[in-house]
Amino acid sequence: MQEKAANPPNRLPSDKLLLEHDVNLKPYNSFGLPAMAARLVRIHEAADVRRVVDHPLLGRAPKFVLGGGSNIVLTKDIDAVVLKLEIPGLRLLEEREDAWIIEAGAGVGWAHLVQWSIEQGYPGLENLALIPGTVGAAPVQNIGAYGLELQDRLESVDVVDLMTGRAACLPASVCNFGYRDSVFKQSGFGGLAGKSVITHVRMRCPKPWKPVLGYLELERKMEETGIHNPSARQIFDWVTAIRRAKLPDPALIGNAGSFFKNPVVTPEQCRDIIGRDPGIVHYPMPDGTLKLAAGWMIDACGWKGKAVGGAAVYERQALVLVNRNGQARGAEVVTLARAIQESVYGRFGIRLETEPVLL
Ligand SMILES: Cc1cc2nc3c(=O)[nH]c(=O)nc-3n(C[C@H](O)[C@H](O)[C@H](O)COP(=O)(O)OP(=O)(O)OC[C@H]3O[C@@H](n4cnc5c(N)ncnc54)[C@H](O)[C@@H]3O)c2cc1C
Repeated sequence: MQEKAANPPNRLPSDKLLLEHDVNLKPYNSFGLPAMAARLVRIHEAADVRRVVDHPLLGRAPKFVLGGGSNIVLTKDIDAVVLKLEIPGLRLLEEREDAWIIEAGAGVGWAHLVQWSIEQGYPGLENLALIPGTVGAAPVQNIGAYGLELQDRLESVDVVDLMTGRAACLPASVCNFGYRDSVFKQSGFGGLAGKSVITHVRMRCPKPWKPVLGYLELERKMEETGIHNPSARQIFDWVTAIRRAKLPDPALIGNAGSFFKNPVVTPEQCRDIIGRDPGIVHYPMPDGTLKLAAGWMIDACGWKGKAVGGAAVYERQALVLVNRNGQARGAEVVTLARAIQESVYGRFGIRLETEPVLL
């Protein structure tokens, strides 16, 4: 799926930025969907964002921020100026009595950060192993897996405002995190969707380290192996193995991971659904609500393996839509997703929300 992208770049007057025209985005999205970017600028440092904002041609144009493209569905060519985040850098910023603070540039791969932190002896991120995409995008949807969410470990993020070019450091407390949600995804009052670029992220790995093991598949691993006090490295290896067995590798078959969020319902709604579908998989949440397994609902509606053109429901996990022949188009993915939403609504009365950003 990895193709060579891009046409010859032009140098912008600032002589610092590279502007590329008519860039093929197929290699830059994990679904492998075809789309062109009229203009693309690679962001190598926070100051590059300011240079774009100050630029006479680009400054006022709409912008789209692109990380690793593993949580987007491209349905058309992009007219907005694409800012492709490639800011490097990964270091232990500070060792405190209560935590290790790790700082990374927005362009660093998230999975690389987690592996590096384990190898360096800063445990705490192991449950989030192998999640694709960049560090800069991780706070946007508050990535989560195997009982841990980014918000449990985030210290702060650096952002640059896309209107003013001003930089700011936001502590985790103002990021308004929710399930696959944050201020960076919210567009209402105070929301920052489309308004700022995350340039650096600081993660807090608390001391003393405590394993996060409540998740069913990790409990199964403990039973299977007889290891009841796993190290961070052991949990990292288990999560990596579970993910490899369950999720399609985007390098082999295009996808954007879970396509729908697991719906959260009240106990009354859950009882009502259980009355009709006793087998429905659900998890109690700390606030008394219940999370329903969207993949189970999609499977119960008979979608596993079904396709619209090149877009299909993954055979092994109904929550994942895939580009089965490498030729899928964004419109096919959206048509399939809408049909799934309709049928789940028809049977369970629940509207599934999509997890990736549809463009
Ligand atoms: C196989 C697979 C498995 C996955 N598993 C999980 C999982 O377990 N848990 C989970 O939570 N997610 C999962 N995902 C989804 C995805 O990996 C995450 O959402 C990831 O954080 C997206 O990163 P990205 O760099 O690819 O973002 P993109 O897809 O490039 O962008 C996603 C959104 O973030 C915005 N954005 C990107 N970078 C920045 C930035 N620096 N500043 C501001 N906005 C930005 C974009 O504008 C866009 O709106 C999975 C995806 C795949 C393909």
